[in-house]
Amino acid sequence: MDKIEQSEDEKDFLSNPRIVENYSLLQDIGVFKHIDSLNREIRNYKNLFAGALEIFNRTSIDQIMDATVWQISDHFLPSFIAFLWKPLQNREEITIKGYKNYKLVDLDLKIENITLFEPFFRKYPKPISYDLFSFELGDLEAAKSFDELHPELIIPILGPSGLYGMVLVGRKILEDDYNSAELVYLQNLMSFVSQAIQNHVHYERTLRDVKTGLFNNGFFMTRLNEEIARSHRTGSSSSIIIMDVDKFKNFNDSYGHLAGDRVLESLAVTIKQAVRLEDVPSRFGGEEFTVLLPDSNKEAALVVAERLRTSVAAMHIPWDPPLPQVTISLGVVTFSKDLDLPASELIQRADEALYLSKERGRNRTTVWGSGLLAKIERLNIIDAMI
Ligand code: GH3
Ligand code: MG
Ligand code: MG
Repeated sequence: MDKIEQSEDEKDFLSNPRIVENYSLLQDIGVFKHIDSLNREIRNYKNLFAGALEIFNRTSIDQIMDATVWQISDHFLPSFIAFLWKPLQNREEITIKGYKNYKLVDLDLKIENITLFEPFFRKYPKPISYDLFSFELGDLEAAKSFDELHPELIIPILGPSGLYGMVLVGRKILEDDYNSAELVYLQNLMSFVSQAIQNHVHYERTLRDVKTGLFNNGFFMTRLNEEIARSHRTGSSSSIIIMDVDKFKNFNDSYGHLAGDRVLESLAVTIKQAVRLEDVPSRFGGEEFTVLLPDSNKEAALVVAERLRTSVAAMHIPWDPPLPQVTISLGVVTFSKDLDLPASELIQRADEALYLSKERGRNRTTVWGSGLLAKIERLNIIDAMI
């Protein structure tokens, strides 16, 4: 640990004539050593709180993990740090992120779900040494998943709905074991980290749709309103794509609701992969999805819409027995400073374009344009005549 510097107060204290007079006595009975150790402890707590603040100030789970790795590595270099957490509330799958030497690495951890550890960590909601953990969970096959990595410490990330994740910290690279002060530091820091991750998981979940992990309608509308305001300020064009699964009622009726749910999950993955990071893919409700495309004019949005349509038509849906391909119909609307419309009106127009795609035979894209309203009216007339 770092050398402790003397503060002004301490210098005044040490130059007090009565201290000088009794110096040998005080030294003999260990007063100065004691002061040193108290100073060290204070210094460690200051470091811990500074580190915790640094971690709590981060605005995403990735940033929290990066900040944690830097904080820990400031003190000692663990052979690895691994973060495991469940991004989706309704699913077992976990995301794993491993760090070695400050860098992101693939740790080759063979574990798919952590729910099995939940009863243990509910009873024992604290960081625990790996040796004790494997001793306590000796019979549990899953506990052996970490044997090869052999972490030093396992820290649970717990929340109201159970075990969200775990952090594994490896042994030190350079020296032998963690000393007790270092272990206390690690445990304390990691308690803050797990709290920060848990807060972010909660926050993320308020923005996301539980079934698909895409953004929910509320977040989409918030971002849409922000984007409308921004396009007024900057004069840029942005677009909305709205899409709806074709004949999904028939699909559910033929293959069951669970197969239908799997389609929606696969769709979400396909949509996410087809758009940029700054776009906002969302589940609008039921089998309808929307994407907000900042800084995208009509032509750019049409390219994305067609990419979405063809990717969905080619999408593989993991299910036994195999399922038929599904298709989507899409509507696109573009807005800018010149088109001063509220969010609800823009959605209405995208919906009208989508409606026309359905009328034109499904599995196609329609861009909202000036001639569209007349076409819709005409179609309504035709419908009314039938
Ligand atoms: P169209 O091509 O005109 O859109 O036909 P459609 O059958 O898709 O349209 P409709 O609106 O009649 O039916 C939508 C169906 O979507 C009905 C509903 O059961 C299904 N659906 C909505 N949400 C979910 C969901 O979360 N899971 C599953 N499996 N089905 C859903
Ligand atoms: Mg629908
Ligand atoms: Mg539909």
